Amino acid sequence: MDKKTILVVEDEIVIAMDLQATLIDLGHEVPEIITSGEAAVQKALELRPDLVLMDIHLSGAMDGITAAAAITEALDIPVIYLTAYADEDTLKRASFTAPFGYILKPFEARELRANIDIAFYKHSLEKTIKEHRQWLLAVLNSISEGVAASDTSGLIKFMNPVAEALTGWTQTDAVGRSPAEVFRFLDEVTRNLIDSPLLKSLHENHTVYLPENALLLSRQGREIPVADSAAPVYNDQGHLEGAVMVMRDSTEQRYMEAQLEHNALHDALTGLPNRALFLDRLQQAIDRSRRSPEFGFAVMLLDLDRFKSINDTLGHLVGDQLLVAIAPRLQTHLRNIDTVARLGGDEFAVLLEDVTDVAVACRTAERILEDLAPSFMIGNHDLLITASIGIVLSSIPYEQTTDLLRDADIAMYRAKARGRGDYELFDLAMHSQARKLMEREHALHHAIAHDELVVHYQPIVSLATHEVTSLEALVRWQKPDEPLIYPDEFITLAEEMGLITTLDQWVIREACQQLQAWQQLGAGAWVLADSHLARRANSTEPAPTLSINVNLSSNHFAQKNLVETFASILQDTGLSGHHLKLEITESVFIKNAKEAAAMLKQLKQLNVQICLDDFGTGYSSFSYLHQFPIDIVKIDRSFIQDIGTDAEKLAIVRAIVGLCHTLGMAVTAEGIETPQQRDILQDLGCEYGQGYLFAKATDGATITQSLRM
Ligand code: C2E
Ligand code: CA
Ligand code: CA
Repeated sequence: MDKKTILVVEDEIVIAMDLQATLIDLGHEVPEIITSGEAAVQKALELRPDLVLMDIHLSGAMDGITAAAAITEALDIPVIYLTAYADEDTLKRASFTAPFGYILKPFEARELRANIDIAFYKHSLEKTIKEHRQWLLAVLNSISEGVAASDTSGLIKFMNPVAEALTGWTQTDAVGRSPAEVFRFLDEVTRNLIDSPLLKSLHENHTVYLPENALLLSRQGREIPVADSAAPVYNDQGHLEGAVMVMRDSTEQRYMEAQLEHNALHDALTGLPNRALFLDRLQQAIDRSRRSPEFGFAVMLLDLDRFKSINDTLGHLVGDQLLVAIAPRLQTHLRNIDTVARLGGDEFAVLLEDVTDVAVACRTAERILEDLAPSFMIGNHDLLITASIGIVLSSIPYEQTTDLLRDADIAMYRAKARGRGDYELFDLAMHSQARKLMEREHALHHAIAHDELVVHYQPIVSLATHEVTSLEALVRWQKPDEPLIYPDEFITLAEEMGLITTLDQWVIREACQQLQAWQQLGAGAWVLADSHLARRANSTEPAPTLSINVNLSSNHFAQKNLVETFASILQDTGLSGHHLKLEITESVFIKNAKEAAAMLKQLKQLNVQICLDDFGTGYSSFSYLHQFPIDIVKIDRSFIQDIGTDAEKLAIVRAIVGLCHTLGMAVTAEGIETPQQRDILQDLGCEYGQGYLFAKATDGATITQSLRM
């Protein structure tokens, strides 16, 4: 051992001298012998010895323990106590000063030497540990990651300043608390709390990572995107000591990642999805349609006409600006689920999801072409641009995006070849079919605007008296020089086009006027003779009220001013509400039961009657019957047809008639074609009948004629 300076504090001078001599023998330096506590403190500060040998019992005011405490407080040097005897209390007090050893007097040289060696060894070890700890703290305090540690019971014992800043907790407040309280992590998407990684790593005994989309919820309620991991810590015996957690604010990183992803998948010029993203979504759509056949989609490939000449004559800058201006126009009529992409150059593509109907795809293409029609102001250039569109539907089973796009391309070139500013379907058969439908749409518009619709009337008779009680107004479409078109071919279309309310109101007005005109022809009950209407003028009984039945599409019930419209029709035509029966179907109640009920109530105030049409075909929930103010139930033709041959149908009709009567409603049977059917229904107590047995629907003029005969 190299030479050390040792301060000897001992008031028994003989022992002190002995110590000094022994220490010098051992190769150390003993600069002075001190005999009091006060002097010991002073000398230690002055000389800064390597070690102090301190007698516990000093004769002065300050004893050895107090002196040692003062010295170690100021200087980092080991102290060894000397004592001849010591009571428990003294030893306990001494132990608080963390001495490096005790030497009993009288001492032995060997013992002294061993004690001093151990003291120096322990001291240097402690110093190293202290240095390491300081170094570690400096590192922890200066790194940009948040670090926290817990003990084995899972309670926080350390937090660095970054962890403090992120959580909003100070270390002082956090120490001793559970990490679940201080480090609260949320899943960004589900908003659920995530198990504390620190506790989890402790319990599961391995490293735990936070999920990628984790947020740290600070004490003040701030949400910070973080990346985090926690790992258990072991001592050198391999025993668990606690866990340590490292976390990092990942706001920037997530933003960058999102940005990078966006850039990789979007067109820099227009901001639209690029080819890569489009192909990805298209592939997903293809896969989905193969998995679930009810899912369909359409792809439109759109190429601008004559874009190259704009580029060539006005320059690329104008061309680019035009492309930028086109992007939002393409999106005008698309839904959120659809994708518009720029594939490159002046080529765009649209993916329409959840589309199975060609007509929908064609309509969308038409709208896009219309949206592109108004001119674009680019700088001081007023530019007109058209596009050609090729359409492919998923009804052709594609497996690969390239095949599908190739066909869309073919269709697009056909559209271009036929004349620009048009669209074309790849499947030609489909194309002619779709064109027909489109034409029909245009034609229906035209029909309503140009009076091509006519109303035919079918009598409804009392099964008991055979008198005509009502006439159902049934619309037909009469194109000039063409056969009549029946409603089954255009009512659904009119509904889809939003034309049905206009159509129905036209029919109601027409029918009301017609009835009004017939009433003016004179009184008397109407009867049927060989399917011809006639008047039983000589009857003594008063003529029953003849009324008109009109069909109301359930779409009406979405309209606010329905009741006002009916009131004004009645007023304009001068017909009383008693003569009008509105036929509705159960779908009215399904779509919007509450509002429908309220509307029916209001309608009833106009004295009109409500018929429930096609009963038995739909939901046929009997619960509707008493929930809504229904006057007459019309049993659907499908039940009447088989009533003579099918016992089950007969039973159902009997039940319906019975129930309706219990509820105070009358029953009309639709589609009676044979006398047998009529007789059965009459036996069942059914009030009214309608069907070819009595008469088919005919136009108003024919009816007027037969009444005059
Ligand atoms: P609906 O209300 O059930 O009308 C009865 C349909 O059955 C009529 O067909 C009628 O001609 C037919 N029919 C009547 N008796 C018999 C029979 O004995 N045997 C057979 N096989 N058929 C018979 P139409 O005129 O073709 O009307 C079809 C449907 O179109 C109607 O069914 C109704 O739902 C709808 N519709 C007709 N006109 C209008 C209208 O002005 N507005 C609305 N919204 N729908 C209408
Ligand atoms: Ca009807
Ligand atoms: Ca019906």
